[in-house]
Amino acid sequence: MNHSDLAGLESLWQGILIEIDEIEEMATTPAADDLGFDPDGLREKYRIERDKRLRSDGNEQYLEVNGDFSDYVDDPYVEEPLNRDPLHDEVDVVIIGGGFGGLIAGARLRESGFEDIRIIEKGSDFGGTWYWNRYPGAACDTEAYIYLPLLEETGYIPTEKYAKGPEIYAHSQRIARHFDLYRDVCFQTEVSGLDWQERDACWLIHTNRGDAMRARFVVMSNGPLNRPKLPGIRGIDTFRGHTFHTSRWDYEYTGGGPEGDLSNLTDKRVAVIGTGATGVQCIPHLGASAKALYVFQRTPSSVDVRNNRPTDSEWAGSLKPGWQRERMENFNTLTSGGVIEEDLVQDGWTEIIRNLISMANYRGQGLDRGEIARLMELADFQKMEQVRARVEECVNDPGVAESLKPWYRQFCKRPCFHDEYLPTFNLEGVTLVDTQGKGVEEITPRGIVANGQEYEVDCIIFATGFEVGTDYTRRAGYDLTGRNGMRLSDKWKDGMRTLHGLHARGFPNLFIVSNGQAGFTTNFPHSMDETARHISYILQQCRSGNITTIEPTQEAEDDWVEEIIRLSRISESFQAACTPGYYNNEGKPDPRSAQNASYGKGPNPFFKLMREWRAEGSMQGLERH
Ligand code: NDP
Repeated sequence: MNHSDLAGLESLWQGILIEIDEIEEMATTPAADDLGFDPDGLREKYRIERDKRLRSDGNEQYLEVNGDFSDYVDDPYVEEPLNRDPLHDEVDVVIIGGGFGGLIAGARLRESGFEDIRIIEKGSDFGGTWYWNRYPGAACDTEAYIYLPLLEETGYIPTEKYAKGPEIYAHSQRIARHFDLYRDVCFQTEVSGLDWQERDACWLIHTNRGDAMRARFVVMSNGPLNRPKLPGIRGIDTFRGHTFHTSRWDYEYTGGGPEGDLSNLTDKRVAVIGTGATGVQCIPHLGASAKALYVFQRTPSSVDVRNNRPTDSEWAGSLKPGWQRERMENFNTLTSGGVIEEDLVQDGWTEIIRNLISMANYRGQGLDRGEIARLMELADFQKMEQVRARVEECVNDPGVAESLKPWYRQFCKRPCFHDEYLPTFNLEGVTLVDTQGKGVEEITPRGIVANGQEYEVDCIIFATGFEVGTDYTRRAGYDLTGRNGMRLSDKWKDGMRTLHGLHARGFPNLFIVSNGQAGFTTNFPHSMDETARHISYILQQCRSGNITTIEPTQEAEDDWVEEIIRLSRISESFQAACTPGYYNNEGKPDPRSAQNASYGKGPNPFFKLMREWRAEGSMQGLERH
C-alpha cells in the first residue's frame, strides 16, 4: 500500500485551485512581453526537465535500510545503553513515539488527569525528528513561535524566528518535564507488534526488548519521516571510506557540532548526495569546513529568502494569553488560501500564498475555475522566476548558477528557505556536480562516479531523505493484529480506511496520529495538537461513561472514506506534470492518493468539524461497549 501522509502539502497547494488540464484549455494566455516570461516556453522547459528525471523504478530506486545497511540507522547519540528487564505489566495508555506527536498527546492527556501513561520511544530521549536530525544547520522552516508546541503552557519563547535544532530538541525535553512524561517512559525501545486481546479488551504490545506489556488504549504517533532511506546506487556497499546518513550525523568523524565548525574535515574530501531540505541546511557547514566538498545534485531545490532574526523581547513581553493559538490559526488560514487582513507570521510560506492570491486577484470577481487556475499558474511562474533570479544574484559562476535553478512548479517539491546555501557554491573548495537529473551512477571503493567521471572522496554523506510512499506498517516498523486476526497492513492494502484519520474498524481503542484522512497543515505540530485534544476528549468520555472499548462503526468509516475521496483536491494531472519526488510517489502518481489524502476542505474546516463533533456529545460513529 502506498500511503503518502505528506500528499497533504501538495493538496494544500492544489486546494487553491490549480489544475493543469484546465490551464491547457485556456485560450487567452497574455503575451510573453507583458509578463516578462513566456508561459508556453516555461511549461515546455518544465516538461523537459521532468522527463529527464522520470524513471521506471519510481520508489523502488531506494534501498530499505536493514540487513547489511542497518548500521545506517544505529543510534549514534545514546550516552548510556539501556539494560532493563522485559515488562509484562499493564498501563492505561501507551503512546508510541516520543516526538512532538507523542509529547503533545501525553501533555493533553496529563492536563485531563490521566496518570497512567507510558511513552515508548526508539531514541534515548524525547524529541523524535529533533532527536535524530542533529546535522549541522538543522533548524525549523516554519516560524518557531507557531512550530514549537505548547509555548504558553511551558512559558517558553524561542530565541529566534527560526529556532535551531538544539533549541527545539531542548524544548521537547521541557515539554516532557513540564507534563511529567519522563515518569514511566521506555526509551531505547522499539515496538515490534501490537495484538488486540479480545477477552481482556486491551492491546498486547511486543518490543525489541522482550516486553509484552498491556495497554487499554494505544496512541500511534510514529512520525511521517522516521525511516531514513538510501539510494539504490550500484556499488553502494563497496565504498571503503566513511559514510553516514544525515539523520545519524557522525560528529566523532566530522568534529564540531550542530552550529558547525566541523574541524575534523579540514583535511577531508567530502561528498554529499542529495540537495533537498536537509542538504540545503547542512551543505553550508560542510562547505565552510571541508578541504573539498562535492555536492552531487539530481534536482535543485527552490531556495528562497530566510531572513532569520532574534526574538524581540519587547514583542515577546507584549503577547497576550491565547496568542500562540491565534497565531497558529492565522497562519493556517493564510496558507490554505483564506482571506484575513493581517498576516501575523509573515514568512516564506504565507508570502508564497499571498503572492499567488494577489497576483491571481480573483476574489470577488466571479472568475471561473479555469481562469483562476490560469492566473495561479502565472503567479507560480512569476514566483519561480524570482527564485531563479535569486540564484543568479547569489552565485558568481554563471554555469553553476544555471545548474542550481529549479525548473518545476513551486509545490512539486518542498520549498526551502536559506540565505547561506547558494553563496556556498562561491567557495573555492566547493564543487557542484550537476548530474542533469540522472543522479549518481555508481559508488566505487574510492568514491563516486557521476557524468562518467570518478570523484575520489574520504567520506560520503547521504542527504537522501526518508521513506514516504512505502507501506504504513513498514515505515512504522511493526504491524497490528486487530479483531479476528485482521492485520492493519491487509486492511489498508488498497488505501487507508479510517474515521477522521484516527480510528480504524477492527482495531478498537487505537488512535492513529497521521495526516492521512485527517487535517493537514504545513505547521505539523498544530494538527498534532488538535488531534491530541480530540483523543483526550474521547478518553475522558470513556472514563466518565465507564466505556471499555470504542471503535468506529462500519458505516461511519465507509462514509468518511467516501467523503475524503469526494473532497480530495489531489489532481493526477498536476502530480503527473511535476518533477519526480516524494510528493508524487517519485513520478508515478498513485491512483489511491485521493483516498490517502488529507481532508480536502483544509485544516481549519477539519478542526472545526472535530470541535463540532465533540460539542454534539454523542461520539457519533463510534461504537461503545
Ligand atoms: P528529500 O527526500 O527531500 O531529498 C532527498 C535528496 O536526495 C533529493 O535531492 C534527491 O534528488 C536526492 N537523491 C536521491 N537519490 C539520489 C541519487 N541516486 N543521486 C543523487 N541524488 C539523489 O530528503 P530531505 O531529508 O532533504 O527532506 C525530507 C523532508 O524532511 C523535507 O521535504 C521536509 O519535509 C523535512 N525537512 C524539514 C526541515 C525543516 O523543517 N527545517 C529540514 C529538513 C527536512 P531528487 O530531488 O532528484 O529526488
